[in-house]
Amino acid sequence: MRLILLGPPGAGKGTQAQRLVEKHGIVQLSTGDMLRTAVAAGTPVGQRAKAIMDRGDLVPDDVMIEIIAERIGRPDTARGFILDGFPRTVDQAEALDRLLEERGLALDGIVEIVVDHGILRDRILGRAKETGGARADDTEATVTKRLDVYRAQTAPVADHYGRAGVLKQVDGMGTVEEVAARIDDSLHAGTDA
Ligand code: ADP
Repeated sequence: MRLILLGPPGAGKGTQAQRLVEKHGIVQLSTGDMLRTAVAAGTPVGQRAKAIMDRGDLVPDDVMIEIIAERIGRPDTARGFILDGFPRTVDQAEALDRLLEERGLALDGIVEIVVDHGILRDRILGRAKETGGARADDTEATVTKRLDVYRAQTAPVADHYGRAGVLKQVDGMGTVEEVAARIDDSLHAGTDA
């Protein structure tokens, strides 16, 4: 099973992705996690990405596309994968379309977790407080920037898949279990858009 999980920062993508990983025996490919690992390890990509991430901007498309092209070729993705945090721009989505076509792979679902933007800032900053600000980019200024970047650059990715008639939209308000049940239902039903 190959899935894409779309949704703004704070929508709960990571939590839902982990559950789908366990349920379907697939791997979670979180580009945010991959980049944080690269930053911690001080690789060339990590050195380049750190300042960009700290200010809430996007790492260049060519870097991200190369990372994903390599990652979805590894043997542990044989049973499938869930993309969390990619694609984040329409150019990334188009590159992914080409990549999957070249490799003869199809997507089983593109799920957008829809959450009112008004609550996201508080959710992320609340989470940062609980975890003691474990993420360098969970500061007030960076969160505002990440939400702006999402609206400008990532929201059009949902439109890209909506036009292709393959997008499933799920209400992201409610408990983790409620949202999980909606995602499961959407994967069994037809498309919304
Ligand atoms: P968020 O909670 O903001 O969705 P992520 O962990 O997905 O956080 O990403 C953290 C940061 O990593 C982003 O703000 C961005 O700088 C960078 N990043 C992650 N994925 C991508 C991507 N696909 N394209 C460009 N930058 C990315």
